[in-house]
Amino acid sequence: MNQDFDVDLFVIGGGSGGVRAARIAAGHGARVQLAEEYRVGGTCVIRGCVPKKLMVYAGRFRGEFEDAAGFGWTVPEPRFDWSVLKARRDAEVARLEGIYGTNLDKAGVTLVHERAVIEDAHTVRLVGSNRRVRARVILVAVGAHPVKVPEVPGCELAITSNEVFELDRLPERILVVGGGYIAVEFAGVFASLGSRTTLAHRGDQLLRGFDDEIREALDTAYAKRMDLRLGTNVERLERVAGGLRATLSDGSALEVDEVLYATGRRPKVDGLGLDRVGIELDEAGAIPVDAFSQTRVPSVYAVGDVTNRAALTPIAIREGHAFADTVFGGKSWCVDHDLIPTAVFSTPEIGVVGHNEDTARKLYARIDVYRSSFRPMKATLSGRDEKVLMKVIVDCASDRVVGVHILGHDAGEIIQAVGIAVTMGATKADFDRTIAVHPTAGEELVTMR
Ligand code: NDP
Repeated sequence: MNQDFDVDLFVIGGGSGGVRAARIAAGHGARVQLAEEYRVGGTCVIRGCVPKKLMVYAGRFRGEFEDAAGFGWTVPEPRFDWSVLKARRDAEVARLEGIYGTNLDKAGVTLVHERAVIEDAHTVRLVGSNRRVRARVILVAVGAHPVKVPEVPGCELAITSNEVFELDRLPERILVVGGGYIAVEFAGVFASLGSRTTLAHRGDQLLRGFDDEIREALDTAYAKRMDLRLGTNVERLERVAGGLRATLSDGSALEVDEVLYATGRRPKVDGLGLDRVGIELDEAGAIPVDAFSQTRVPSVYAVGDVTNRAALTPIAIREGHAFADTVFGGKSWCVDHDLIPTAVFSTPEIGVVGHNEDTARKLYARIDVYRSSFRPMKATLSGRDEKVLMKVIVDCASDRVVGVHILGHDAGEIIQAVGIAVTMGATKADFDRTIAVHPTAGEELVTMR
């Protein structure tokens, strides 16, 4: 290791990608420092996946209480206390934050609670203490932050997925703007917890990029659970007595307690000093990197949302790991971004791996599409008006399964297992010879003919 440098690796950002990279690099013997200006754990742990999923669980109890009657239970009128959920959720997040810090410490990584910016290709400046650290390699893992739509007058009155976790009370009325992962998940959470929820999305269907039939099924399910306004923009927001007034492009106006903008995220690169080393951003405002996460400056790498390859925690973690193994472990590998199983924690939930039908039609000469839409067994007694939708897309030439799409209970859990098969290159014949687990929803995947 080069003694001209204070450290071998300086990581800027203590989220999923940065922490993994730091720990693995330290395990390979590198001297590592990591700077985090906010809380260790990053978006996923502090104000993303983890607290969001806990809120999803909270919301789903409503359905369980309702369904219980069909199975013979008498459940007293359930009452929900936001402050209990918030306190317990925040405590869990703090616990995980502590574990992240401890793990860095155990790995021998020096954690600096300060903002760090790049001075030159090998120097990082810690802004608070104005200290400079010379590093053989700098890893930028600063993530992304939510963006609103500044052209909309009054937009500053809205919150984003950052502030949503700070709300002191459950809004009685909420308008969620957007139609991506975050909008769909939070609209579902608030509707389940009892807020009068409006979801306004500019597109004709939610979740652009997902399979059209899955989108249609989600639109149908959401229209039953909330006030869903598709093809609708927010024109202005203003404060009125008792809340906020939103004027919508469909000519209507809504009065709500909160407006949540979930209109995308942008890499958090402002003031980071990338220009000082000649790193130009791409159209999405992200840092361009090669397959090994190296920028055009050989000593500067970047992983995770700041590179906008696939803004998902497991991808950031893997990119961080691959970077550390490649640069410090003598084992060169890179992340395959082509086949990414993913879930949307809407209710009903969505799980996806591989191509949607539209894309598959463009990529393959001929495809077969197997679909099954059915009432889940539990709904027979609960009486819930609910459908599960599953699609399996097969490339006819190779018989390989190139896409699986599920909408329904536990879709995320199911797709994780199916993802192994699809990643291994399973064929439809492999699916067909797999014995069904009965009675489950998942068995449909191996009994479609
Ligand atoms: P997305 O990019 O997924 O969605 C943004 C939404 O906002 C889209 O519906 C988009 O519409 C809409 N939008 C964008 N600009 C405007 C505008 N000017 N006016 C009105 N609407 C607009 O971003 P999210 O913020 O939902 O999530 C960011 C990323 O975080 C996701 O892509 C995902 O990778 C990750 N994530 C993953 C989760 C998971 O794995 N479960 C959970 C949460 C986040 P249009 O479609 O028309 O462009």
